[in-house]
Amino acid sequence: MMRHLKIYQAITWGTFGCLGLMMTGCSTHSSQKETSRPNIIFIMSDDHATNAISAYGSRLAEVAPTPHIDRLAKEGILLNNCFSTNSICTPSRASILTGQYSHVNGVRTLKDDLDPSKIHLAHLMQDAGYQTAMIGKWHLHTEPQGFDYWQVLPEQGLYFNPMFKVRGLDDASDFKQRDTKVYEGYVSDVITDLSLDWLNKQDKNQPFMLMMHHKAPHALWEYHPKYEHLFDDVEIPEPATLFEDKGHRSEATRQHENNLLRLGKRMSGQMKVSSVHDYKEWPTGKLEVDGLSEKELISATYQKYLKDYLRVIASVDESVGRILNYLDENDLAENTIVIYTSDQGMFLGEHQYLDKRWMFEESIKMPFLIRYPKGLSSNQEVNALISNVDIAPTLLDLATMDTPDWMQGRSFKEVLEGEIPQDWQKAIYYRYWMHRDMTPAHYGIRTKDYKLIFYYALNLDTKSFGHPDSKPAWELYDLRKDPLEMNNVYAHPEYKDVIAELKHQLDDLKVANGDDDNKYPQLLELRQLVN
Ligand code: CA
Repeated sequence: MMRHLKIYQAITWGTFGCLGLMMTGCSTHSSQKETSRPNIIFIMSDDHATNAISAYGSRLAEVAPTPHIDRLAKEGILLNNCFSTNSICTPSRASILTGQYSHVNGVRTLKDDLDPSKIHLAHLMQDAGYQTAMIGKWHLHTEPQGFDYWQVLPEQGLYFNPMFKVRGLDDASDFKQRDTKVYEGYVSDVITDLSLDWLNKQDKNQPFMLMMHHKAPHALWEYHPKYEHLFDDVEIPEPATLFEDKGHRSEATRQHENNLLRLGKRMSGQMKVSSVHDYKEWPTGKLEVDGLSEKELISATYQKYLKDYLRVIASVDESVGRILNYLDENDLAENTIVIYTSDQGMFLGEHQYLDKRWMFEESIKMPFLIRYPKGLSSNQEVNALISNVDIAPTLLDLATMDTPDWMQGRSFKEVLEGEIPQDWQKAIYYRYWMHRDMTPAHYGIRTKDYKLIFYYALNLDTKSFGHPDSKPAWELYDLRKDPLEMNNVYAHPEYKDVIAELKHQLDDLKVANGDDDNKYPQLLELRQLVN
């Protein structure tokens, strides 16, 4: 049934396209329209925190500037409140392409595949006459569709001499089994080279959409050797929450490990990898820790982690510079939309975390910078609430296309133009479906002023690892007084009315997005029990 619906949708789109041409009568019009449509270069990295982009002005801005990415803020628009609705690689990527929440597009966890028959942004761009390409990290497990050209890393890919799956290289029916092509060099450079090569070959009379997806700066933060000494003798500033007393937290989150300490123990050889607590691939033997106290070990681990991570970012920034230079040199800058974003944020020691997943700000906040000289103003910031399901509708809108009704997001083109519609969303709905003890399953609502989270801690028909000991609980953060989320005020009586109103809003959002709890009696029951 779903499959038929999708085919119908594709046909409808194609039909409208033809009708449009027939009604306007001649091919001259169509070619003018096509050439006037903006080109799109969508650059997405993996796990790049806003705190590690100097345009966002964090504690790291001075020690680790990103001048090329910052250029997009100066010459375009920077979004301060763009959120991932499920802060983990595969689901966020699926939401960006489909304009749908995880529970609707079916990609709720790292293990879920993007259904290859599913129509998404790239198909719609193709139908509208765009030349489309996907180069770099894909991580949706099935063959990319809707792209005229693709070269993608198998799953996470490698930092050095990476292998790529290439369209047309091998047509074995099982995508996972297909042959790969190896490119010598550093992955961020290779992805940039392949992208520039593809751009060079495109017909300049037809618009293009390039999705250039970096593997970097995802763990294990393997930097280019030329940056080995980038932060010698530099002390990376620590976040205010590195040694936070988590006494304010609920039972749901207080019990969870502070994974920076675990990383330190692992890197210093004091601890072996244990079950689901740790990344199996965490490096060992990288830290000398003789005689350090636990606190000193955390600080030393933080320095090592941040320096490696920021060295990886240096190559990403360089890549953005090469793309922007190419556009300048080829007279393409004016009519090309350039976006820089990441599939989600990343903890850089805040709350003594690394990784993402949690609904805390550093994890769910995506960097989002957009430059479009011909259509948008420069040097602006946007504070409106936006999420990853809104990205596809916005790109379609900027390319003068309507949002299909099966997309759940809404175009923020008007917001970018400085006109915030009266009925613009007042809240973001978030849900982390996976459930493993590093982070329990949870959902919540993020408004301008508050964040309410329900850690339901159940493994609900997801292919997660499951963990029996997680306890369910609510947490509330008052972002006006506590932007760093260091004081869970859920139990404070003065917030009783706020909590009631937020729960109401949350449940309305769940219904509106087609994700009420009715299909999970266990969860419904839990909501009754845990208040
Ligand atoms: Ca990611």
